[in-house]
Amino acid sequence: MQQIARSVALAFNNLPRPHRVMLGSLTVVTLAVAVWRPFVYHPGETSPIVKTIEIDKNQLRTLLPEASEPLDQTASDDELPQDEIDQDVTAETGTHDYVVSSGDTLSNVLNQYGIDMGEISQLVKIDNDLRNLQLGQQLSWTLTDEGQLQRLTWEMSRRETRTYDRIDNGFKMSSELQKGEWKNSVLTGEVNDSFVSSAQRAGLTSAEISNVIKALQWQMDFRKLRAGDKFSVLMSREELDGKNEQSQLLGVRLRSGGKDYYAIRAEDGKFYDRTGSGLARGFMRFPTVKQYRVSSNFNPRRLNPVTGRIAPHKGVDFAVPIGTPVLAVGDGEVVQAKRSAGAGNYVAIRHGRQYMTRYMHMEKLLVKPGDKVKRGDRIGLSGSTGRSTGPHLHYEIWINNQAVNPLTAKLPRTEGLTGKDRAEFLAQVREVLPQLKLN
Ligand SMILES: [Zn+2]
Repeated sequence: MQQIARSVALAFNNLPRPHRVMLGSLTVVTLAVAVWRPFVYHPGETSPIVKTIEIDKNQLRTLLPEASEPLDQTASDDELPQDEIDQDVTAETGTHDYVVSSGDTLSNVLNQYGIDMGEISQLVKIDNDLRNLQLGQQLSWTLTDEGQLQRLTWEMSRRETRTYDRIDNGFKMSSELQKGEWKNSVLTGEVNDSFVSSAQRAGLTSAEISNVIKALQWQMDFRKLRAGDKFSVLMSREELDGKNEQSQLLGVRLRSGGKDYYAIRAEDGKFYDRTGSGLARGFMRFPTVKQYRVSSNFNPRRLNPVTGRIAPHKGVDFAVPIGTPVLAVGDGEVVQAKRSAGAGNYVAIRHGRQYMTRYMHMEKLLVKPGDKVKRGDRIGLSGSTGRSTGPHLHYEIWINNQAVNPLTAKLPRTEGLTGKDRAEFLAQVREVLPQLKLN
């Protein structure tokens, strides 16, 4: 039966489009007839019951072939492109971290990663405090292969960290109180081979190096540093029995090509330049001028009804007519622009270090690998190339190597600090800057 269903699906996808639409409509009519039973006679009842079942437009739509990828597609997915820095800083893949901003709740933070509301309410059930996330706290988590939450860590303060681990039927919580002493230390160095190995020589751990790279990601391409470039890093580290337990990056200065770049941590856990301006560049929510109907949603746990296997849909499909300009959602560098069997003509853009966006099934590509793009630049014209059942644009956002829901993902924001926050930050800058000396 599975085999038959699959060959029907395949045959269907191979039909020219007008036939498909017609066949689709015929199928709908047949189904409608099968479902719609105008006259149902129940023997033994006094009068016949007339039932009309209306199929509304949305239901019809789910029966029609959508402009999307066929479900039998296992991998949309040429591998996510990597570069030297990814290879050097591997520890982070699979771990997601997030700094709580104003207005955040546990559910809107986790839900964008496709984590089920059911799991989120299980967490809140065992620890009601999770309802009150505070600005600047850090959340980090890992997922199972099926996209369920494996472990959540909540750094409530420098003193307390709570961890929630998946068990058979829910989660178990453990809490850790830090007893060490926090001390500031300045680490300085000079780049000679790669930044990562130079930073290791200066005494930074891999986690600390990764945080430095993230803090400066919008200003600096760490692959382009030159021998002789210098850096100075202010870390706050917790020491217990002479060992470093955990640490927090307070500020970094990097001198490259005679110019100084700074990123300094504010109370909200984010990094700003010396004047309190935001460092991240904003993203557009949609990769097109106009917003199009979603024909298939992001779904990391989508089940293939035929095979019964999980066939994650790692992006969102927009029903976009062929030839529509596709736009880069943020500033970045094109890391892939090519044709593949599944994704058709597609483009991958890296934004900073943590963000990657991908655009698939295009008719024509307008960029090539290595091109620098600005937010809103045309990167291609949409189409229906590769494994596709009709004209559409498949669009993905990856954060720290994890696909997230493009419609709800928390995107980098450009805003800087204002008012009292800015005044406090500037006071802090006056303390931090003199410590960031270069040797
Ligand atoms: Zn898709």
